[in-house]
Amino acid sequence: MSGNDAETLFERIVGGEIPADVVYQDETTFAFRDVRPQARVHVLVVPRKRYRNVAELAAADPQLLSDVVAAARQVAELEGIVESGYRVVFNTDGDAGQTVFHVHAHVLGGEPLGLFGA
Ligand code: 5GP
Repeated sequence: MSGNDAETLFERIVGGEIPADVVYQDETTFAFRDVRPQARVHVLVVPRKRYRNVAELAAADPQLLSDVVAAARQVAELEGIVESGYRVVFNTDGDAGQTVFHVHAHVLGGEPLGLFGA
């Protein structure tokens, strides 16, 4: 894959080169707070291994996708939002507004989120 800053940003966060507020990590995943939170809780969960987006990840390594979703659940537990509810979003390419091309799940919650997509 070609490398530019946008493509390698989350690899540098996972590698500790760029500081982040780490919430959870395990062998295959890494979770940290979004620098521009869109809700009271806004955490990004990434696989340590980079795939461009969730479509590529699902096709190439479904077990790793499962790990990311399980890590999102762990984040929700740590943040105390399992009971109140939370949203998991994978923005995927252009119309979805994906800006960082290392697949990441947004875990959002901690307050009523309302509808989205408008
Ligand atoms: P996307 O739009 O690709 O789905 O989401 C990328 C997210 O990464 C955005 O919500 C943005 O705020 C977040 N982000 C971008 N740069 C950084 C950074 O350097 N640190 C952290 N923690 N989050 C970032």
